[in-house]
Amino acid sequence: MKKIPKRTCIVCRSKLEKNEFFRIVRDENKDVIFDKTLKANGRGAYCCKNDACVDKLSKVKIVNNALKTDIQSEDIKSVIEEMKIELKKK
Ligand SMILES: [Zn+2]
Repeated sequence: MKKIPKRTCIVCRSKLEKNEFFRIVRDENKDVIFDKTLKANGRGAYCCKNDACVDKLSKVKIVNNALKTDIQSEDIKSVIEEMKIELKKK
C-alpha cells in the first residue's frame, strides 16, 4: 500500500494529510497567500482547520520561520479572515 505523506501544522505541530489542512504559500513577491487549491507554486506551509491554530497565525514569527519570509502581522490578516470564512462554511 502506498504511504500518504503527512504534513505538519506550523502552529501546533499536528501531523495530518495535506487535504486536512489549510495551506499558505509564499508567492513570488514574498507575500503570504491562502492557497485554497493546495497546489499553488511557491514555498508552502500548513495550518489546522480550527480557530485556535488559525488565530495563532497572527503571530507572524511562526509564519516567517516556516516560509522563510519577513511579513508583518497586518500582512497575514486577510489570510486569517479568509480562513475564518472557510471555517464558518462547515
Ligand atoms: Zn494546528
